[in-house]
Amino acid sequence: MSVDPLFQDIKQKLIEQNREDSEIDLIEKSFLFAKRLHEGQYRISEEPYIIHPVEVAKILLDLKVDSHTLMAAFLHDILEDTDTKPEEIEEQFGKDVLTLVQGVTKLGKLQFKSKEERQAENFRRLFIAMASDIRIVFLKLADRLHNMRTLNFMAVNKQQKIAKETLDIFAPLANRLGIGKVKAELEDLSLRYLEPDKYFEIAQLVSQTKAEREETVKLLIDKISQDVKKSGINAQITGRAKHYYSIYSKMKRLNIAFHDLYDITAVRVIVDTEKECYEVLGLIHSQFKPIPGRFKDYIAMPKGNMYQSLHTSVIGPRSKPLEVQIRTWKMHEVAEYGVAAHWRYKEKGSQKADNPADMQFSWMRKLVEYDKDMKSAEDYVNSVKLDIFSNQVFAFTPNGDVLDLPANATPVDFAYRIHSDVGHRTVGALINGRIAQLDTKLKNGDIVEILTSKTPAPRLDWLNFVVTKQASSKIKQWFKKNNREDHIEVGRANLEHELTKSVFDEYTKQGEFEKVAKQMNYSSAEDLFAALGYGETTVNKVINKLKKPQPQKTLETSGFYSSNKKKSEKDIIGLEGLMYSFAKCCSPIPGEPIVGVVTRSKGVSVHRVDCKTLENVEPERLMDIHWAGNNTNKIYSTTIRVETAEKMGLLKDIVAAVSDNNTNINYANVKSKSGKIGIIELGIELDNIDTLKRVITAIQSIPDVYSVKRIQTSYTPSHNKKPQTNKTKNNKKRK
Ligand code: MN
Repeated sequence: MSVDPLFQDIKQKLIEQNREDSEIDLIEKSFLFAKRLHEGQYRISEEPYIIHPVEVAKILLDLKVDSHTLMAAFLHDILEDTDTKPEEIEEQFGKDVLTLVQGVTKLGKLQFKSKEERQAENFRRLFIAMASDIRIVFLKLADRLHNMRTLNFMAVNKQQKIAKETLDIFAPLANRLGIGKVKAELEDLSLRYLEPDKYFEIAQLVSQTKAEREETVKLLIDKISQDVKKSGINAQITGRAKHYYSIYSKMKRLNIAFHDLYDITAVRVIVDTEKECYEVLGLIHSQFKPIPGRFKDYIAMPKGNMYQSLHTSVIGPRSKPLEVQIRTWKMHEVAEYGVAAHWRYKEKGSQKADNPADMQFSWMRKLVEYDKDMKSAEDYVNSVKLDIFSNQVFAFTPNGDVLDLPANATPVDFAYRIHSDVGHRTVGALINGRIAQLDTKLKNGDIVEILTSKTPAPRLDWLNFVVTKQASSKIKQWFKKNNREDHIEVGRANLEHELTKSVFDEYTKQGEFEKVAKQMNYSSAEDLFAALGYGETTVNKVINKLKKPQPQKTLETSGFYSSNKKKSEKDIIGLEGLMYSFAKCCSPIPGEPIVGVVTRSKGVSVHRVDCKTLENVEPERLMDIHWAGNNTNKIYSTTIRVETAEKMGLLKDIVAAVSDNNTNINYANVKSKSGKIGIIELGIELDNIDTLKRVITAIQSIPDVYSVKRIQTSYTPSHNKKPQTNKTKNNKKRK
């Protein structure tokens, strides 16, 4: 059987790539199938339509994709442009091929609308998220690349639009997949249509300087080739201009002319092993002076898209700066073909990734991991189901508009994203045509239809599950406007409860709430209470703003739980008039840096800034506070742990050292550890951090003491020293 001339090159390459005969036959069959169906169709270039799928297949063949992808390349425009039924494709070429073709067709319908950068990023994400299989992204990229190559046949305004889209969406996608070759070509072609003057200027300058560049590279090769050979390294050294778009962006970024760019030439050295990369680097650096700060080791630290190379810049021959990239052949493959350099799909095709554990891996991490673990190829293909953007979901309106929402977003978030009026009137939702509860978590690709009533009636309990700021603030706003009386009542009651009635009344008499309301941009105290009522602000925020010092009453009600004997509002700046207590976990002492943490029920808890428990505290609960001074005339407690040799009489020495320093021991616990080390825990009352340091030094200087450490307080201080506090607390509860 004679081979169609259009298929000849492809067949040759397939044979070179050692593909099975049966595989090649099927690919040829898909070509003939597509050729027959596209018969009589022409592109704008007046070429027969089949040329396009053939070229797309050739691009993919270079990327060494699997046979199903190649078949899909031939068939990719068939569903769209001919009357062929999906079943026919499935019957002839199998389900996997059909899925690929349908995927490309579906992605082709996505319209990139906005010019904004953020939108472009979302679109890229959506694109990947929508492609249930990474091979679909490859098909789409190859399709776009060929369309870009033939863009000159399009009308000028279309050229611009397509080129912009290519630059915003497809080139970054290619980059993300590590296909440097495709990325560079897409960028250059886009530049040609978006900035033709710049493009042709750069192209001309690059070609004018070609001889000079080749000369420089030749000199470099002459200088190092002998050393390279001597070391027994088999290296290929080439020097080429960087691609136009990268020259263009550098000129633009640095705002300099072509001739001022010194690293237009990239010298590339390709060797056999990783070890040789470093050897060659050494050889080059010994001949040419490296430019400081330019060396990058992407071998030890690969880029996110798996790119590996050593980069350095040196003062090259004739004192010209040169950028040199050193890599192995394998790294070179990856740099040019990215993911495609690595994978070989199993013939049975990809399977659904249902394992949530797999999903958690970020896509990029998976790419890098895959590099190290070839045997997990199948897992890899599955996980490349692209749950990269696990912190986002993309959902559709019934007319196909895409909304990007944070993970766990619900139909209510979706409704408010469309419009706050839609949000307010939401009564139900259809997800993919089925009735769904309003707190359902949306999934990628869900089509969401919001059912609305005529009159707005949002519900407060939505606040329990909405995840977007937009939804929660609109819901709160609505309630602010609509249930004002109730909110004022609730807000007032909350504040009164926190302050106690007498304090609240005192403040009211003084007009203090009116003042605070103004400070917080509310027009009246009632507005402030209303805001408290529907949760726009918090009781703590209001209390923070109240006149200081507060009436005495508030202080008496403070729920202290630290061991301090006496305390007034003056020892800490930033907490005047507030209820507070010292955190037991770290027992701060005057003189060391502290921070306040607003608690739910106990006012402000004072921690050391290095306290471990702070790691889990939301930043908005932290208050900037500091000690009024080191000498507060008060006593603070802390616990230290002393490790000693097991020896009689040592405790006595230690106690003596402590008490010599104007301190008091209120607790001592002696433990023994396996007969060799004695452990003594001491609760010490003292005035400030300087005293503590002196105590620690004093104990440390005792012979047979191994170590002295401050530790978390391990005892509960007795409360009977503060009868007043407890009593007031009980009183408050009864009210
Ligand atoms: Mn196409």
